[in-house]
Amino acid sequence: MKMNRNHERVHIDEGNMCRLCAAEIKEIYSDLSLSEEELDILAMPRRAFIVRFPVKTGTGKTRMFVGYRVQYNDARGPAKGGIRFHPDLTLEHMSDLAFLMCLKCAVVNIPFGGAKGGVLVNPKELDRNELELVTRGYIRAIADFIGAFRDIPAPDVYTDEQIMAWILDEYERIKREHCPAIVTGKPVALGGLKARKYSTALGGIYILEEALKERGMDKTGTRIAIQGFGHVGKNAARLLHEKGYKVIAVSDSGGGILDREGLDIPSVISHKKTSRGVTGFSGAQGISNEQLLTCDCDVLVPSALSSQLHSGNADDVKAKIILELANAPTTAEADEILFKKNVLVIPDVLANSGGVVVSYFEWSQNLNNDYWDEEKVLEKLRQTMISAYRDVHAICLQEQCRMRKSAYKIGVKRILHAERLRGNL
Ligand code: NAD
Repeated sequence: MKMNRNHERVHIDEGNMCRLCAAEIKEIYSDLSLSEEELDILAMPRRAFIVRFPVKTGTGKTRMFVGYRVQYNDARGPAKGGIRFHPDLTLEHMSDLAFLMCLKCAVVNIPFGGAKGGVLVNPKELDRNELELVTRGYIRAIADFIGAFRDIPAPDVYTDEQIMAWILDEYERIKREHCPAIVTGKPVALGGLKARKYSTALGGIYILEEALKERGMDKTGTRIAIQGFGHVGKNAARLLHEKGYKVIAVSDSGGGILDREGLDIPSVISHKKTSRGVTGFSGAQGISNEQLLTCDCDVLVPSALSSQLHSGNADDVKAKIILELANAPTTAEADEILFKKNVLVIPDVLANSGGVVVSYFEWSQNLNNDYWDEEKVLEKLRQTMISAYRDVHAICLQEQCRMRKSAYKIGVKRILHAERLRGNL
């Protein structure tokens, strides 16, 4: 534990800073020779709070719910980050994810800070009416602290565009005026963008295509394996298939499937709709999730959970490129092993930032009342992602370091630059 200039206890060593990337961040802070003041500014969120609010459930009984919101840093613009409904949330984990959101927005150079929040609830145990009441109750509890120029929520785990629509409506009822820019990921009819649904996957694919060019790998010979077949993984598989890549393996929580000749992804999507999983797809070989991660492929796309690539399996990975569409799918130990094996790991803060980039377009269109067609949205997304890739890649070449390290360095430097311009440093 360290003491700052005001002799407050600052847990820089034990991790008020992001626990999900502590090892990497410590190394970066030391490489950048950050001063005590700079470390202090980044060490903790600016605002982190817990709310409790009552909801009358279907049985007529009142139940108190707990919600969190963390606004880690807003030097570069309003705080921005998802709202998740999950039974295992902690304020610390929200804080870690809010920190990563700050880095992500800074790496792709959009004018947002980072936030994260949620409600401690298993949404599967609520009926639709209760889900709406919980959403509205949470927004009433945090309404004074969010806003289109303060903190802008978005969907995250177990929250969707319907929940964003309730958030919008509740906030506007409180403020007694229209304010579409208060939340992103809304339905199109309420000012959302169609591309938001697949923008995380597409943003990642734009980056992947740059990396493939860089490595001299061509489209026809590139075999891709994707872990996770939800919102992100399914869209990644669909878009890659449409672009002519060979997706040879996919998986979900029930297991995986492999076809070395390439899976017919539209048929896999139909199969999953009817049988609720990808396994059992006709003509494909059944594999486990562990086998998917180490299968013979050129590109591996983790799109499910955190810490899937670890010291126990990283050595067996055969892919030449890993595109992290999931958040934190690679542990620090695995990252080191993969770097030594010359596997290019395109880190989450860059690879999966397409969603927040399109959220930024949604927010700015809401503010300007100026709606672009989908083609323009996608072109702007492509330009933003490629420009971020080039910034990160340039540092990798200069310093011969991992992409994660160069992305984090860019993010930290941009946040501190904004703090300096504001006179906070
Ligand atoms: P989702 O809930 O829609 O899908 C998750 C998928 O992972 C499901 O297909 C599920 O079956 C599968 N899965 C669960 N456990 C698994 C296991 N053990 N092995 C293999 N697959 C498993 O979630 P999502 O929105 O697609 O998010 C996936 C990841 O991408 C998460 O890490 C999320 O934080 C990250 N992410 C999502 C977005 C976004 O726009 N949705 C943006 C940035 C990052």
